[in-house]
Amino acid sequence: MFRELLARPTDGFFVVDAQGCFIEADDTLGQLLGCSPDALIGRPTTDFVHPASRAALCQPINCISTSERRNYRLELLHQDGSVIPALVNTITTRNAADGTISGAAGFITDLRDSRDKPPHAGYVTSDIEATRHHHSQLQLAATVFSESRDAILITDSQRRVISVNRAFTALTGYSADEVVGTEAPLIAASHHAPGFLDQLLDELARTDHWNGEAWSRRRNGAIFPQWLSVSTVRDDQAGILHYVAMFSDLSERKAAEERADFLARHDLLTRLPNRFLLRDRAEQAFAHAVRAETRVALLLLDLDHFKQINDSLGHPAGDALLQTFADRLRSTTRDTDTVSRQGGDEFLVLLTDIRDSDDIAPIVEKIMHTLARPCLLAGQEMSVSCSVGLAVHPEDGTDFDTLIRNADAAMYNAKEAGRNTFRFYSQQMNEDAVQRLDIQNRLRRALERNEFVLHYQPLIDLGDSRIVGAEALIRWNCPDLGMQPPGVFIPVAEDSGLIVEIGEWVLREACRQARAWQDVGHRDLVLAVNLSPLQFARGNLVETVRQALADSDANPALLELEITENVLVKDTEQVLATVRQLHAMGLRLAIDDFGTGYSSLAYLRRFAVEKLKIDQSFVRDLPTDPDAGAIVRAVIQMAKSLKIAVLAEGVETADIAHDLRLLGCDYAQGYYFGRPMPADAFAERLPPPR
Ligand code: C2E
Ligand code: MG
Ligand code: MG
Repeated sequence: MFRELLARPTDGFFVVDAQGCFIEADDTLGQLLGCSPDALIGRPTTDFVHPASRAALCQPINCISTSERRNYRLELLHQDGSVIPALVNTITTRNAADGTISGAAGFITDLRDSRDKPPHAGYVTSDIEATRHHHSQLQLAATVFSESRDAILITDSQRRVISVNRAFTALTGYSADEVVGTEAPLIAASHHAPGFLDQLLDELARTDHWNGEAWSRRRNGAIFPQWLSVSTVRDDQAGILHYVAMFSDLSERKAAEERADFLARHDLLTRLPNRFLLRDRAEQAFAHAVRAETRVALLLLDLDHFKQINDSLGHPAGDALLQTFADRLRSTTRDTDTVSRQGGDEFLVLLTDIRDSDDIAPIVEKIMHTLARPCLLAGQEMSVSCSVGLAVHPEDGTDFDTLIRNADAAMYNAKEAGRNTFRFYSQQMNEDAVQRLDIQNRLRRALERNEFVLHYQPLIDLGDSRIVGAEALIRWNCPDLGMQPPGVFIPVAEDSGLIVEIGEWVLREACRQARAWQDVGHRDLVLAVNLSPLQFARGNLVETVRQALADSDANPALLELEITENVLVKDTEQVLATVRQLHAMGLRLAIDDFGTGYSSLAYLRRFAVEKLKIDQSFVRDLPTDPDAGAIVRAVIQMAKSLKIAVLAEGVETADIAHDLRLLGCDYAQGYYFGRPMPADAFAERLPPPR
């Protein structure tokens, strides 16, 4: 106490008991209060304190047990009635014997300006200066608070807002009146991952500080990004007094960042992704393709003779052309594909989710076709072609760089081949694609030029080896390629949809032939015609059949339609309705290649099938493979019990024919009895009409 006392000779010193009555007072204090120190002894301190400050005075005594040291301001009451602002500094005193509180000792500092003070020996002005300095510090803090361009929000320990500054109102639209007393809306929790706020509070509790980016909501509901920094303010006993949150609006910076990001990842002229973004997307696509077991094709497109256009029509025309190309590329590809510009007149396209590599060439054809459409350039209409190189993941490489390199090599080949064409990196894919495209183009003309013919293969009754009918099998007599079997062109025709028209032709031609044979007396000859699943799905099958029968006046009971199992397995209402109508017209239904598909018994009944044709793979293996034998036997027995006729396909030897007879098979077809042959050759095989 005395050390403190000596260190502060200008402050009034006092000691009070536990009831707050003076038991010691020095001269300085006496002078301050306007009476002798002795006169103070025994009197309650409250007598010398302005009524407005009494609560503050009592507090330290009441709270003595929780706080050993207090600093507080109060207004002293001079004996002459004047009011003196003062700073009080107390220390709790305790009984040495049992540690119970005996009272308090302290100093009182006069806060009046030195000019207002009575002269006093030894009064050191620097102390007053220190207090003033403290005051101006407070004032400075208050100014910083109100003038700050960052929004500041101060809460109590319960996170209820005590005060906000002007910037807060400007930024959020909330006035102080609206938020003071409410729980602080620090962040827009709905725009954060669940648990974000908890993590924030958790870190705040551990370190007394948090800062980072967060989303907040303005008064008008708009969400904006903010840079938020929250601190905890604690008292001497480490209890939480306040939270102070400061934040600034990041919207503009974000927008600038996004723009910078866009520029870094896109081409300025066309606004297409650039190579960096493409690489990103490509790597994602590769990872997905590995999981889904699909392919990804990388196309490198290079405009043909772009330099000439640039040189002759000028750069603005060149730029316009590149933009047109970009738009067209975007419009011909799916949203999941990525179109990108590599700079110059080179574009890269990433085609994803490709199941079959045969699907790639038609897509590339379509893209090239769209790009080659005429466009208006510097007032002239012109059409610009491009050359395309293709590399396919995973065949031609499994990483972006390898694929680009290979697509580039393929593109070079396309240029070498005279431009306006595409080339795969893989030789095999090139050949396949070229062949398919060649066939597709030729097929379109084949119908008009009447290049298709039907050959007929005898259907034999195994009981007496008589010819009971014929299966019509299509052939394409191509002037350049020679006679083509259906395996070469039917899949291409199915891909392009051309099979529907070709199928109509087959039906018309088969009916015409059936009628011709009927006319010369072969009245019971069955004619089997193959149908493609696509004719069920797309063509107006019932109408086509009706028309073909009406035009030829052939007997519907002698027309047998061969369909594969997968048509029926789809089992849609549409298929069922079609089958019913065909039945109603008197036609018969046979299941082709039985045993290679789902081989479900349920639909055989449901669709009232008349005949099963056991696939040649089982028949061929009959003599050597016991399993094949078992299957053929089972199919025959099952068909018998369902009262469905059975035909064995691909009978090549007398032995097999013999075995089938023993197994009770009704009919057979195969090279042993006769190959598919032209109509007149077939007619020669028929016995003379009765
Ligand atoms: P499919 O309907 O199963 O026709 C039987 C195929 O087996 C025919 O082949 C026939 O020549 C062949 N074949 C017959 N007997 C034997 C034999 O003993 N041994 C061997 N190894 N093969 C034999 P083709 O004419 O090449 O026809 C192949 C497939 O093309 C047909 O199989 C059929 O699915 C389809 N097809 C043929 N013509 C048409 C048609 O007009 N329209 C449709 N949509 N498809 C057709
Ligand atoms: Mg067939
Ligand atoms: Mg077959």
